[in-house]
Amino acid sequence: MTPNLVVDALLESLPHVQAWHGKTIVVKIGGAAMSDDALVDAVTQDVVLLGAVGVQVILVHGGGSAVSALGRQLGLEPTFVDGLRVTDDATMRVAQMVHIGGLSRDLVAAIGRRGGRAVGLSGHDGGGWLRATPRTHTRREDGEAVSLGRVGDITAVDASMLHGIVRAGMVPVVAPVAVDSSLESLNVNADSVATAVAAAVDADKLVFLTDVPGICGADGEVTAEVDARTLGRWIEDGTVSGGMIPKAEACLSALDSGVSLVTVADGRVGHGLLLELLTDVGVGTMIRVGTESQ
Ligand code: ADP
Ligand code: MG
Repeated sequence: MTPNLVVDALLESLPHVQAWHGKTIVVKIGGAAMSDDALVDAVTQDVVLLGAVGVQVILVHGGGSAVSALGRQLGLEPTFVDGLRVTDDATMRVAQMVHIGGLSRDLVAAIGRRGGRAVGLSGHDGGGWLRATPRTHTRREDGEAVSLGRVGDITAVDASMLHGIVRAGMVPVVAPVAVDSSLESLNVNADSVATAVAAAVDADKLVFLTDVPGICGADGEVTAEVDARTLGRWIEDGTVSGGMIPKAEACLSALDSGVSLVTVADGRVGHGLLLELLTDVGVGTMIRVGTESQ
């Protein structure tokens, strides 16, 4: 790059740096981006750069497929009720090993290698800062309420420790493991953790980095923007399916909680975060409150 282009790029970022300085952003990084070291490095580089220009980032990571893979290697047979996976105690141990001992550590180390400072957290820390309640499921066949094992839904977030870590200039890296009232682990969906954390810290923006370029509408094309009501309809009519359902629900609940800027973007292309935050280029799909437009 010629010096002039470097200067142009820096100047283009100036109004964005000014706008985001001192703001808090929650970034959820999904399984796909986590499986590639180069992508993890690119995301962590973005996080460290954002931190260096005064943007406070909180990272939340997923990694369900890594839990299944290690579970299989250890000979754990997954069981399902109506297509929903049951997390038995052994699988919960594996989830804990993969998330806290593995993925969180990798992110904390990658941030460190880029000159940033990060702290890995799960719900157990700080006396149980991330609380959840075990989820029950109404079985289709007989209407019975059945347990899904150690699967939980977030009930409370004590943000004081997060605030302390952020104030110390460090990046909290949050694993999707919460605790119940007895401080036993519960597996929680990382999208809903990101939303709960964003709401608790009153984040200015929430970004979901996933393995698709954004949310596809009924025509199968990625949409640059979708309003909450349309997205709700897409969940109901099946336009949104699979892993995009909890993500879309997490987007809607973030908007409801007052987090006004919510984006779903591609975590497989490097530096999407920098493009989204510090340049005029927008990436992925922005979900906004407001009236139906399509
Ligand atoms: P993550 O690890 O980021 O949470 P998920 O696999 O849980 O990723 O969710 C993303 C997946 O959702 C995509 O890979 C895609 O297969 C699926 N999906 C379903 N409906 C849509 C849609 N309308 N637009 C985009 N992706 C969708
Ligand atoms: Mg998912």
